[in-house]
Parts: sequence; structure tokens; C-alpha cells
Amino acid sequence: MPKLSPGDPLIFRVAIAQPFYHLFDYLAPDTIEVADIKPGVRVEVPFGIGKAKQIAFLLEIVSHSAVAAEKLKQVVRIIDPQPLLSAKDLRLLLWASQYYHHPVGVVISTAFPALLRQGKALGVQTEKHYTLTDLGKLATPQQLQRSPKQKSVLEKFQSHPSGLSESELSVWNSHWRPAVKQLMAKELLQTSQAAVAAKSPELLTKSQALACNPPQQAAIDAVCASFGKFGVFLLEGVTGSGKTEVYLQLIHKVLAQGQQVLVLVPEITLTPQLEDRFKQRFAVTIAVSHSKLTPKQRSMAWQQMQQGQCGIMLGTRSALFTPLKNPGLIILDEEHDASFKQQDGFRFSARDIAVVRGKLLHIPVLLGSATPSLESLHNVIKHRYQWLHLPDRAGSATAPVLQLLDIRNKRMFEGLSEALIGEMRQTLAKKEQVLLFLNRRGFAPTLICHGCGWVARCLRCDANLVVHADDKCLRCHHCAKEYPLPRRCPACKTGELTALGLGTERVEQALALRFPEQVIVRLDRDSTQRKGTLENYLQQINQGDVDIILGTQMLAKGHHFPNVTLVALLDVDSGLFSIDFHAPEKLAQLVVQVAGRAGRAEKPGKVIMQTRQPEHPLLTTLIQQGYRRFAKTALAERKAAQLPPFSHQALLRVESHDTETPALFFQALADLVQQYNSGQTHILGPVSAPMARRAGFYRYQLLFQNVRRKDLHQLLDKLIPEIAKLKQAKKLRWSLDVDPVDLY
Ligand code: ADP
Ligand code: ZN
Ligand code: ZN
Repeated sequence: MPKLSPGDPLIFRVAIAQPFYHLFDYLAPDTIEVADIKPGVRVEVPFGIGKAKQIAFLLEIVSHSAVAAEKLKQVVRIIDPQPLLSAKDLRLLLWASQYYHHPVGVVISTAFPALLRQGKALGVQTEKHYTLTDLGKLATPQQLQRSPKQKSVLEKFQSHPSGLSESELSVWNSHWRPAVKQLMAKELLQTSQAAVAAKSPELLTKSQALACNPPQQAAIDAVCASFGKFGVFLLEGVTGSGKTEVYLQLIHKVLAQGQQVLVLVPEITLTPQLEDRFKQRFAVTIAVSHSKLTPKQRSMAWQQMQQGQCGIMLGTRSALFTPLKNPGLIILDEEHDASFKQQDGFRFSARDIAVVRGKLLHIPVLLGSATPSLESLHNVIKHRYQWLHLPDRAGSATAPVLQLLDIRNKRMFEGLSEALIGEMRQTLAKKEQVLLFLNRRGFAPTLICHGCGWVARCLRCDANLVVHADDKCLRCHHCAKEYPLPRRCPACKTGELTALGLGTERVEQALALRFPEQVIVRLDRDSTQRKGTLENYLQQINQGDVDIILGTQMLAKGHHFPNVTLVALLDVDSGLFSIDFHAPEKLAQLVVQVAGRAGRAEKPGKVIMQTRQPEHPLLTTLIQQGYRRFAKTALAERKAAQLPPFSHQALLRVESHDTETPALFFQALADLVQQYNSGQTHILGPVSAPMARRAGFYRYQLLFQNVRRKDLHQLLDKLIPEIAKLKQAKKLRWSLDVDPVDLY
């Protein structure tokens, strides 16, 4: 904070939670003691026309503004007495705003749950909670004979081992504060912030930890050695190798030190089993955060972490910025998963920011996966991350056998070959379960006229409509628009309409015909929309009430199906021919993840992949030599082509209702690029996006690429503010995606 002399005006420099790249100056309220106000508090400011107000975040208190004094408006109110974010977290957010070139106020507001973003005050649990320290537990009231007030407070606490809150104390005795303060000074009492530490390790857990195998122990030891300092670890272990057990034991150690752990997972609602496992292990409260909770629940979880009342936060991408009173460790499970990258608005990578956060907080970051991203493997090779390896399945489970099933010229029954049906029968005869994977929901991806070749297309997108038989409609999977299912061809009026291709609904119908005696469950976004449905299905599966499980990539995410011994991928070929250079990596990860569902308990598993490309190098490498070998080859290819992680990219996306505005925009942009690009950064495009129209918008993109990250960002630093000022930019929608993972 600058030295302020008495006569100077006090100016609050704030970030407003609106799409602006700069900060705003306001006069401080008259009534405040500036010394008490720290950056990071929320304030309310007049903004826009009339009496409109906005929530803003105080970043600096200064004495001079470039804005003329009489034009400065005054802050309406200060919402928080204390900053809700630490100085380090604020720094992290400012860094992220710069790195992703996203408006600073919008970035800061992502760190808050919705209610706090709207300016609501902290909930009731702001009150402090006091407990005895170890010293306090041993103290005898006689020791305090000479101060009866302290003595009675000590006695009160000794009869309430779980501690007392401010309000409980006030009900008991309205003059409790001085005595409590003195007992704190004597280190007999502590506030709840340290309450986690007060618990002895045995009290933290409900169920026993498993005895670790040597690789698990080595992983735990390596991360423990980094407690209190920064380090990134990549825990690579096949599905079922005991990664989660490693997390649980590490979390226990962190909690025992009185510190907090942030655990990020791709999608909790898809893996209720994981949350259960945490809850079974730990006797302490676990804060959970994901999009299916109410705003109030999310806000509570956030505050419990912020105030240190809770030691574990289990959340999705958006939980990354949860403030931690006493941070100890960040864990990111399934680190390869694309859902860690936000795909709209503030397009941040939770994995990459987690690493930066760990560095700022001086704590270790543990990334885990059975199929690590090429970026993380590259960072291991570069010695930026430490590699930890769990080579085998834990317990008695053995690795599944993978095999390709050549279906060329074979008779197919709605996507199922006779050979596969035979395998399924054998498995079912042994009373074991079969899991079928097809990454396409709906009945069929195309509706075509047999008479004239008309194809059902979305009116707003460059895409075919998907036939949904359950809901008897056509649906666009890109803009979600629904259309009635036509009775006859709208073009020729006479031709017969045919559903082309396979979706899960269609396979489900075919299975019901072929396996009338068996119980079949379909798991996809359509079949599990209602709350609780997925949990019900999972329970039925685990109780053995289900014989055949059919589903989309929802199945690839961390489920344990102990009695599944046959896994089949019905169609791997569709993943082999994408123009996005990330596609092979994603396909390989998907195959290995789905395969990992087989034979997780004592029974060995088998994985069958139906393909018309049995010699495809990606598939053969994966099957014969495994994911590591595949990753090595893929990295070598990326290197040869100078693609990420051997170069760095940013993708400028443009959307417009017409095609002329983007043309004018790109012309103006070309002038700017000429001016600022010193020639090092490759600029590819502008071109139409792979999906050239979506939801009525024409879409274009321009790719920036440079082998040196710094040079790329120097160009973007200069360019983006100028783009924002272009008058053509105001007539269309544009956004920048730094380190894009999806080029669509
Ligand atoms: P991952 O997270 O890598 O898929 P898990 O931690 O879920 O692996 O472990 C897979 C299975 O093996 C679980 O049922 C787990 O209880 C068991 N397991 C893990 N570690 C051990 C161990 N050291 N000894 C015995 N069983 C273990
Ligand atoms: Zn027709
Ligand atoms: Zn559409």
C-alpha cells in the first residue's frame, strides 16, 4: 500500500465482475478506517446508468487516479470486513486473468460461489469455534485457582470435548471473551481454524487404511517428503492399481498435520462411489462441490474450507479456487480428463492452474491417471514433474487381456458381430457381467431418405440430427434443438425414411431381442437425467441384478464393477479419423479407461474391440505394447510436427450471424498482427471452424502458435487489448482459448 498523507483522497482500485480488461477507480467511503481494509474484500459500487450497482473486488488502495477527481464516484459499501481470498490466491487469479487474457473481474468472481458473487454476506458459520489444545486437555482446574473465570471456562470446555462456538459460549455466559482470550494466550484453548490439528490421527478415520504395497509406499513417501514445499508428482497407475488408496493415505497425513487438502476430480456426479469411499474412510466432514448442489450448499462448503472448519474439499474444476485456510496438498485425479479445461467463458485449465497454485502456496501437487496426458508425460521427461508408478493392479486382480476383433465382411447384428455375441453368451453363462461401450447416445446419428437421399439436418448448425427413439424426436447434439420426427420425407414426400448408424438406444433394442432373458441397463446422458437414477443403476449393477451394461463414456469414469469380466468397445473406428491432433491421444485414453472396467476383482477380464482397421498402428501399439509405448510414439509425432507440448497455441474463435462482419474483423486484425508480430509466431487462418455453423452462428478461427511460450504471450499481451477496442469486434462474438484442447 502506498504511503498516504492526510490530505490525499483515498481511491479504491477495483475489478468489476463484468467483461472489462481494466480496473476502475472509486472514492473510498467516508466512514472507513483505511488501515482496516485490505485488498481482496468485496465492495459494491455504482456502475452504469442511474442507480445500477455492481459487485467489485478491491485490488489496491491508491492516492492518485488518472480520472478527474470530480468524475470519480464513491463506493457504496464494503461487504466484507476481512478479505475472503488470501493475498496469494488473489495473485493467482490476477496471473490467470493475464495468462488466459480474460477480464480480471470475471476471473476473480469464478473463485466465489454464486451467492457470494451476488454480494451476499458470509453465512452464519463465520463465528469462531473454540476447542482445547492438547495442553488444555491435560490442565487441571486447580492450576487456575487464582482466576475463577478462566477456571470455569476451562471446566466448561473439559466437559465439551468437541468444543464450543461463540454463540454457545454467549448462551452460557455473556462475559466469556476475556477469559477465553487469556486461555488462548496460555495455549490452553484454540480456535477452530486449528481444530483439525487438534484431532489425533486415530480420530480422523473410520475405516482402516490398507497395507500398502511397495510402489504405493514409495509414492506416499515421495509426496510426504515434499510436504511444506512445492513439487509436482505424476502418479501413473493402471486402473485398479491403488491410486485412490494412495490419495486417502496422503490425505490422512495432511489432516493429521492440521492442514487441508483439495481433491479435484472430473465429474463427481458420475462417480458417486468415489465420494462414498472418502466418506467411509474419514470421520471428519468432507466438503463437496459440484454443479448439482444448491447454491447454498456450495456456498457452505466453500466457507467451511475458507475458515478452516473442514479439512477436505472434493470438487470439480470449479472448486480449484476454493480458498484454503491452511493448505497442505492438492490432488487432481484423472488428470488427463478434458473436463478439467473449461470450454467456454474463462477457458482455464484446472490442471495447469493447480500447478501454479501449488507453487504459490508452497505445497505439493499430485496428478494421478492410468493414462496421463502427453503434456504431463512431457513434463516428467523434462524433470519438471516427478514420476511415481504403480505398475500392477493392487490386491489379487490381474490385468485384462485386450484383443482386436476384425469385423470386416462379418455379419453384423445392429453393431454386434456373431463372434462378440458368442463371447457374451459364454460370459453370461458363468453368471458374470458384460459391459458394452458405444460413444454415441440416441437411436441413430443420421436419418436419411431411401428414395431421394434427403438427410435430416439442424437448421441452425452444420450437423445431422440424431434420431431419438425413446422421446420420438430428432435432436441436435450441438445446439440441443429438438424437431418432431417426420412421418415421411419432407423433400420427395414418398421415400422411406431410414435411420442410419448406431446409437445406444438402438443397441439396447437389439440386445433385448437377442438376450430376452437378461437384464440390460443403459447408461448415458439421456437415461440418467433424473436425479438419483445413476445411483440406482450403479447399485443394481453392483448387487448383481444386471447382466448387460451398455453405455457411453459415462462408463469410462472411475466406476468399479467387480463382476464385469467382458468389456467390448463396439466401434473404435469412428475415433480414428479426426482432424484434431488431440484425437489419437483421447481415443487411446478412452480405450484404456474403458478396458480398465474389466476384471477388477478376483476374476480375470477380457476386452474386445470391434474394428475394421485391425492393422491400424494406434490400435496395435496400444494392444501389444500398452499406453506408455503409445504415448511415446505420439509424443515423437508431436515433436516432429512441432505441435504441443513442443509448441504453444492460442485459438481465437469468432462467431457471427453473418459472414461479412467476420471478414471485416479479420482484415482489421491482420493490420494489428502485422504491427505487433515480430515474425516469430505462426498465424494459421482465419478459416471456417470444423463445424462452420452452430446455433445459427457462422464460426471462424485463427490459430497462433509459437515454440516459445513467452513470445506467444508477448504478442497476445499486445494484441488482445487492441482487438477488444476494434469497432468490428463489437459487432460479433470473439474469444481467446489459450492452450486449447479441442479445436472445434
Ligand atoms: P485406482 O484408484 O488406481 O483405480 P484403487 O485405489 O481404487 O485403484 O484400488 C483398486 C482396488 O484395490 C480397490 O478395491 C482397493 O480397495 C484395492 N487396493 C488398493 N490398494 C490395496 C492394497 N495395498 N492392498 C490390497 N488391496 C488394495
Ligand atoms: Zn425423400
Ligand atoms: Zn443445432
